[in-house]
Amino acid sequence: MIDLHMHTFLSDGVLVPSELARRAAMTGYRVMAITDHVDMANAQSALEQITRFCATYRGNVKVIPGAEITHVPPEMFAEVARLCRRHGARALVAHGETIVEPVAPGTNRAAIEAGVDILAHPGLISEEDARLAAERGVALEISGRSGHSLTNGHVAAMARATGARLVFDTDSHAPGDLMPLALARKVAMGAGMTMEEVDRMFQFAEELVEKLAKG
Ligand SMILES: [Zn+2]
Ligand SMILES: [Zn+2]
Repeated sequence: MIDLHMHTFLSDGVLVPSELARRAAMTGYRVMAITDHVDMANAQSALEQITRFCATYRGNVKVIPGAEITHVPPEMFAEVARLCRRHGARALVAHGETIVEPVAPGTNRAAIEAGVDILAHPGLISEEDARLAAERGVALEISGRSGHSLTNGHVAAMARATGARLVFDTDSHAPGDLMPLALARKVAMGAGMTMEEVDRMFQFAEELVEKLAKG
């Protein structure tokens, strides 16, 4: 299992990074990214802690340092993205326009233009934005998280129509949110994806991990 969107108590998750990594390994994960919620206030301090953890951790799962830019006004998105990269974010995730939170309209577009790696839970993303994501190499997320996952079917359809890449993430905040690969595959199929599309999505995750590792 590869899961590139997870939270610890460095933001609103409940586990210290070591416990999240241990539980992930026991759930069959091979690679994970810690992507705590950040804005201009905490990006530097959160990434200092996350990168320190990733640089020193020796466990059974590979942990990539990252951040999820969250509820930052669209006009400030690029600036915070640069801040995150400067402080070591390899897996850069954007908290997209989920239908279950008042995320500012224009966030999906701003995130794609800012060059994040993954646009998380992009809600009812427009075909135009999905096409831009395809062109810019920004992956759209199929979410395992309740609420955010309500528009997975739409996201899968937009990816199919535009050629945008998909990744599956659990967006875990607590131990019960972690998913074995078999369950993640079922969630994706529940969004109307074919077996081949699901295979391709997890194959792409492998390629993305290679790319992120190179920086
Ligand atoms: Zn989010
Ligand atoms: Zn998240």
